[in-house]
Amino acid sequence: MDLSLPIEKLPNVGPRNIPRLNRLGIKTVKDLLWHFPVRYEDYTETVSIDQVEPGQKVNIQGEVLKISSRRIFPRRMSVTNAIVGDSSGAIKVVWFNQSYIENQLTEGTLVSLAGKVSLNKHGLCLSSPTYEKIGSSNLQPNLKHTSGLVPVYPETDGVTSKYLRFLTKPIIENIKIDDPLPSQMLAKYNFPELSQAMRDIHYPTELLKAEVARERFAFEDLMLFQIKALLERRKINQLKSVSIEFDQPLIQEFIANLPFELTTDQKVALWEILKDLQKSYPMNRLMEGDVGSGKTVVALAAAYQAAKKGYQTVFMVPTEVLANQHYKTVALIVKDGSIKTCLLTGSESKLDGQDISKKLLKQKILSGEVNIIIGTHAVIQKDVLFDKLALVVIDEQHRFGINQRATLAKQIDSELVPHLLSMTATPIPRTLALTIYGDLDISLIKEKPKNRHKIITKIVMPKERSANYQFVREEVKKGRQVFVVCPRIEISDPKKEIKTGTKQSKMNILWADVKAVEEEYKKLSELVFPDLKVAMLHGRLKPKDKNQVMDKFKDGGYDIIVSTSVIEVGVDVPNATVMMIESAERFGLAQLHQFRGRVGRDEYQSYCLLLSSTVDKTTNQRLKALVECDDGFELAEKDMKIRGPGEFFGVKQSGIPDLGMAALANVDLIKKARAEARLLLKEDPSLKNYSLLKERLESFQKLTHFE
Ligand code: ADP
Ligand code: MG
Repeated sequence: MDLSLPIEKLPNVGPRNIPRLNRLGIKTVKDLLWHFPVRYEDYTETVSIDQVEPGQKVNIQGEVLKISSRRIFPRRMSVTNAIVGDSSGAIKVVWFNQSYIENQLTEGTLVSLAGKVSLNKHGLCLSSPTYEKIGSSNLQPNLKHTSGLVPVYPETDGVTSKYLRFLTKPIIENIKIDDPLPSQMLAKYNFPELSQAMRDIHYPTELLKAEVARERFAFEDLMLFQIKALLERRKINQLKSVSIEFDQPLIQEFIANLPFELTTDQKVALWEILKDLQKSYPMNRLMEGDVGSGKTVVALAAAYQAAKKGYQTVFMVPTEVLANQHYKTVALIVKDGSIKTCLLTGSESKLDGQDISKKLLKQKILSGEVNIIIGTHAVIQKDVLFDKLALVVIDEQHRFGINQRATLAKQIDSELVPHLLSMTATPIPRTLALTIYGDLDISLIKEKPKNRHKIITKIVMPKERSANYQFVREEVKKGRQVFVVCPRIEISDPKKEIKTGTKQSKMNILWADVKAVEEEYKKLSELVFPDLKVAMLHGRLKPKDKNQVMDKFKDGGYDIIVSTSVIEVGVDVPNATVMMIESAERFGLAQLHQFRGRVGRDEYQSYCLLLSSTVDKTTNQRLKALVECDDGFELAEKDMKIRGPGEFFGVKQSGIPDLGMAALANVDLIKKARAEARLLLKEDPSLKNYSLLKERLESFQKLTHFE
């Protein structure tokens, strides 16, 4: 079978259908076959008409005894009424606005019907059932719409499951495709071979078979993904990096000069990183640690080590506010005058705490005068050239999307590739991280610094609002500060707005954010806390103004800051003790946990107040998870279950196909896929005996590299 055959070559595809099918991503026979059902209607049992009960979904087979259509004028509708009988009895059937059926199912036609039985004042009735003719000569009818487990596909305007079944059924019946998976592997896991799996996933004889087939396809995707990761890793290990000597006395001194003692987890992570930096091939390490676990200082220690050996470090962060914050932290922590740190963002460039022109700064970076370069995307623009770049740190890397890394690597066209340290506060179970980020090394920081109190988390119901404001006021009186986060104002059709992803829709979303913040700001500053210093922060402010607001807040110039979710990433204000979240039920658990991590960063008791605008029990149940649990890993898993892995990791663009994505929650399957990928590559490093697999891998790679 030629899988690459364009669908327009299929007998039932007319010119009008092509664009519609394309909209579902179906261009070739392969796409069609890999357009898997989302579920199945169960019409395995054919019921005789006298056994039919109201509410049941049934398949009945019989003869059309009577059929007629009429128009109902005031409502511009047509109704087709029929009576269908078998040897046990007869039943009424009704269709709306499908008067052509009258011509198809003329009296005397043998028909198979599938649908739901309802009971009205005239008795039992089958309403808008799917129908297909049973040819009279055909003793064992080959039914595809009304009998057995009937596949239901993802649909779009003009492409119904019924139409898709018309296309798939004839292909599936005679299907023969070569299997890229070796037969021993299939046997080992009891997976059906490809053609069988195709039959089982589209037209299963029992649901269990569909399950197994689905698992097989997920396994195949995951394994390809693993092979790809392993090959990439192999490539990386063949690259050259500078080896940065691990200078223990130097690091010990650095640690001794810190204003706090490092936790054991921080020390271990730092040790792992410094060991990696000594190697002559690039480090590829992910440092995972819950919010507030102190990742920045660990990365800085590594940058310090590099600087002392004469090498440069780039520190890339997702927002300007965060870049500014890190820039200031370095000044506090690295007191060694011989180390020069600069800030380079879209709107700012600074060296030694002073503004400097971008042009001059770039010159100084190129000459090697600057050791640590902190910034946003601006630092990976083509015109930023380095002298001896040895280490790249990507903070809050989940914010960047996975392929930023590749961009960065491409930008630096030197023989020596920099070591890479990515950091994330989105705790991901290890196996999952390996799947998503490829074969990288992981350092985990689970322990929180000692001086932290547990943050008290409370759900505040609408009627408790004024008491809540009173509480906030008291905290401010004590000299503490407060974050208020608001969700965006509902836009008329958020799904549509977001899906289109156009510039305009993105702007609309931004404006919705701004509006929410402005309204809340007005309310708090004019009505609730007219006597307190309230500020606002949102995405529409100029970066410079944003930084100013943040700086002033940090210095105690404001009591309360009202913000969009920009506050979610990384911002560190130790004196802030209250995180108040409006309409908390509209945020995901992991995100709420990130917000909460903005407070409790010093010895003061801190609070996270979840203002719920609903009294809906199930919603608040979800918020309760946050009250009860302060472990980011646990919450992340809960969140992943609620929202699905793709949404949760924000890795829709990672190139993991949908099925593999769903399987991300299936740790067992991931382990198997990993093991097999390793075995396969060990036995046959260039896959020369697996040409089909190699082919699949190539098209897979194309798919994942389109960014
Ligand atoms: P995150 O891991 O969320 O990026 P940060 O690196 O911003 O956390 O650290 C949070 C705060 O904790 C900072 O103010 C930092 O100076 C402080 N900190 C880091 N490590 C320790 C420690 N071992 N003991 C006390 N405070 C620490
Ligand atoms: Mg951080």
